[in-house]
Amino acid sequence: MRGAMLYAPGDVRVQEREDPRIAEPTDAIIRLSATCVCGSDLWPYRGIEQVDGPAPMGHEYVGIVEEVGADVRTVRPGQFVVGSFFASDNTCEICRAGYQSSCVHRVGVGGLGAQAQYLRVPLADGTLVATPDLPADDLIPGLLAASDVLGTGWFAAVAAQVEPGKTVAVVGDGAVGLLGVLAARQLGAERIIAMSRHADRQKLALAYGATDIVTERGDEGVTRIKDLTGGLGAHSVIEAVGTQESMMQSIRATRPGGHVGYVGVAHDVALPGAELFFSHVHLHGGPAPVRRFLPELIDLIVERTIDPGQVFDLTLPLDQAAEGYRAMDERRAIKVLLQP
Ligand SMILES: [Zn+2]
Repeated sequence: MRGAMLYAPGDVRVQEREDPRIAEPTDAIIRLSATCVCGSDLWPYRGIEQVDGPAPMGHEYVGIVEEVGADVRTVRPGQFVVGSFFASDNTCEICRAGYQSSCVHRVGVGGLGAQAQYLRVPLADGTLVATPDLPADDLIPGLLAASDVLGTGWFAAVAAQVEPGKTVAVVGDGAVGLLGVLAARQLGAERIIAMSRHADRQKLALAYGATDIVTERGDEGVTRIKDLTGGLGAHSVIEAVGTQESMMQSIRATRPGGHVGYVGVAHDVALPGAELFFSHVHLHGGPAPVRRFLPELIDLIVERTIDPGQVFDLTLPLDQAAEGYRAMDERRAIKVLLQP
């Protein structure tokens, strides 16, 4: 099969890779209908995260089940399924509490490489959710978004305790931030302030339910949020970047008693204890337990209540994955869908 490999920073190649096979009785093999490049794939691509190349890439996937291991009960060949970036048993105490991305048996899918034609999914019963029917082609980008960016934006909104009547600020205008806006709208936020300085992303944020756009960043951005909230700060802030600046901007833009939901993968973030102490802000986040939300998100997508697939503004054949990485790295694309 064909699959993307990262050899070194900036060097992505699509090449022949061995077809995945059932290794454990709880595995499933899926034939990917679509996959994509993640903002978090850019960390190793840019050399900010160590690359031990050549490494298989990709952790977002939807597709048709080809084969299942002897112990798989809940999915069967021919079904269209959505999974997420950590395989989980969905039965341990941590999973049952809703934190499947910290499952005691979790397996990272990134190391298996979903930017490919086929993928082995461990713990298939706990990981994969089948759609009610084979979805129409135009629903596939939305279902692929549910695999990570929508599920992550949704978790950020839930972690930030977004509720009807609240004011929400969203730091980060990548796919996760934009879908955090969508999630905040669905969860009933009264006012949603998107922080973005890119016209195309502002437009999508407004389409997804943002009521205000703030173009300033850092301390100036915090001042603008305070101006818009009677000097208090937002009730809920979604942090979807993962840098020191974005994290501090999020904490400082939150009112005392408010909540930050942080889902940007943290890189060199160090929180000042005294400032945190006096902020009276709740912090919750981490790798999103997307599996918790998948059944609900799949329903919203197939009923066409939400259209998260709009974050994909560039579609390329899998063989052109390298161009997909470049387009996202240079911010020419919000998110790139790859067709295997
Ligand atoms: Zn578990």
